[in-house]
Amino acid sequence: MIVRETNSPEETLAFAREWGEKAKPGQIFTLNGDLGVGKTVFAKGFAEGLGITEPVCSPTFTIVQEYNGGRLPLYHFDVYRIEDPEEMEEVGLDEYLFGDGVCLIEWADQISELLPDGVIRITIRKEPDKGFDRRIITAEGPGL
Ligand code: ADP
Ligand code: MG
Repeated sequence: MIVRETNSPEETLAFAREWGEKAKPGQIFTLNGDLGVGKTVFAKGFAEGLGITEPVCSPTFTIVQEYNGGRLPLYHFDVYRIEDPEEMEEVGLDEYLFGDGVCLIEWADQISELLPDGVIRITIRKEPDKGFDRRIITAEGPGL
């Protein structure tokens, strides 16, 4: 398990950029944590690390957004609004999960039963008594 504390959005961006730089084809990253904790900030940094220059925003209404301008394709999901796993079939989840790009899934706990083993779980939480911008980011998964 890897644990990192950040004290600003910039620090979270920089940490996520490192993950994007190291990402390998077929990897799946889940991103969990409350609303406004920094999941999309992490996704932006991750995309930068892959060399993606397009602006990244939360695909809340489209569920998934594809970015093909980097070293590897990035499939950025936000499954906050998913109420029924069948909705993910319509989105074509498995083609993304078992493709050659990298999946980054905000609110992945909503669809945990649809995900394979071996994902890298990123969890972000606030630590309000230590400062408004303080976050604890943990990464767990095979080899970490
Ligand atoms: P989520 O996708 O988890 O709902 P966002 O990434 O959209 O959250 O928003 C996180 C918000 O928290 C942003 O406004 C960002 O500027 C702010 N923020 C403050 N401190 C941090 C930090 N250490 N890391 C990430 N975001 C932070
Ligand atoms: Mg978000």
